[in-house]
Amino acid sequence: MHCNGLGIAHRQNHPESMDPMNRNAFLRRSLTVAGALATAPLLASARLFLNPSSDPAPEMIDLALPPVLFPQAPLPYAYDALEPHVDARTMELHYTKHHAKYVKEVADAIAEENIAATSAEDFFAHVSGYSQKARNNGGGAWNHDLYWRVMKPGGSGEPLGALRDAMDSSFGDFATFKTKFTEAGMKRFGSGWAWLVKDGGKLAIGSTPNQDNPLMDVSEFKGTPLLGMDVWEHAYYLNYQNKRDEYIGHFLQVIDWDEVSRRFA
Ligand code: MN
Repeated sequence: MHCNGLGIAHRQNHPESMDPMNRNAFLRRSLTVAGALATAPLLASARLFLNPSSDPAPEMIDLALPPVLFPQAPLPYAYDALEPHVDARTMELHYTKHHAKYVKEVADAIAEENIAATSAEDFFAHVSGYSQKARNNGGGAWNHDLYWRVMKPGGSGEPLGALRDAMDSSFGDFATFKTKFTEAGMKRFGSGWAWLVKDGGKLAIGSTPNQDNPLMDVSEFKGTPLLGMDVWEHAYYLNYQNKRDEYIGHFLQVIDWDEVSRRFA
């Protein structure tokens, strides 16, 4: 055990000297990078690099790598594609700064806490057992991924088919849905999200604080999210300042109802 600063740096940077749990987390991250290129020679190189002694350690190379629970997928459209409803500067900052930070921080938390969740749903179902860092950033990473996907340039008008039938059955009509969804966003004090969820065969509208979501065991409002709307000020302040109601009105015009229907099915 090294006691000086160099020793600490050494321990942090060399998987051989890490304790087994941290070492596995380190290797998962390292091999995720290698896996992005997915070639056997590269993995062999990684193995040589990680095992300079050439002592075979097969348990260190696990090709059945655990999934990256919260990847940051490419934005499905250009930063300016939702103009004038969502301005390009807000979109760029939101995706490259806010969302990217949640993705990085939750990956760090998963490694630090040796979280062994097998899916995002599994992670959220047990989130009460993790740190605030894991909860806030896991929610932030997942919620924004949904948010990007339920919007599209020009929107898609109104919901149709089975989703529309369920919405009419649950809320009366589409206009009433919009009123209730807007209220959910307006009544969320401070930062949070408004949601349309499926719970069994029923639909419900609600909201959560901070980066919580309805999949979390700690959430008072539960269900499978079909539609999520960010009402943090960072989602609208550059373009709409304090006028959250205006932002919500514009968000409703760019919803991809085909995507929401796919999640309902
Ligand atoms: Mn946000």
